[in-house]
Amino acid sequence: MSVDVVALFAARGGARYEEAVTQLEHALQCAALARRERADDEVVLAALLHDIGHLVRRTPDAPEGHHGHEGASLLHPWVPARVAWLVEHHVVAKRYLCTVNPSYTGRLSPASVRSLAAQGAVLDLEQRLALETQPWFGDAVRIRRWDDDAKVIDAVTPPLVAYRELIERWLGPQSWRSGRGIG
Ligand code: FE
Ligand code: FE
Repeated sequence: MSVDVVALFAARGGARYEEAVTQLEHALQCAALARRERADDEVVLAALLHDIGHLVRRTPDAPEGHHGHEGASLLHPWVPARVAWLVEHHVVAKRYLCTVNPSYTGRLSPASVRSLAAQGAVLDLEQRLALETQPWFGDAVRIRRWDDDAKVIDAVTPPLVAYRELIERWLGPQSWRSGRGIG
């Protein structure tokens, strides 16, 4: 058994990501931006699934976790290490960009500013250097920028099925459905 991300999007992808778009819309916009910039398949998959941790159902009394960690631990048995790392680190990439470029903070959506404090706000020098020396650091920053731009109301994007080959290559057979905007 692997991870049925299509079923996850079908069940919970209609939830609001922020005020503007749903989780599924946000994921599709982020992946479309990655493809438009000719990112490789691993980065496109990470862009598509970066917030999958938000779709994992928690038990009602479980504490709110870190959705990057939750997404990465769900995916990591199946996907290349780089994909899981990028999913995990899209949150710290936001903190990094706020640290090195204060004007970036002004570009964040209101919900993203609110969550920043809970995620730990800016990085200290040691944390910053630790991140900058990671081999996939540049990919994490690229995904973060697409993430920020993937919140456009009523944007037209390719549907989830456009990523079918990519998803099934690593995650195996999925529950594709028709008529729900998911396929
Ligand atoms: Fe996120
Ligand atoms: Fe996101």
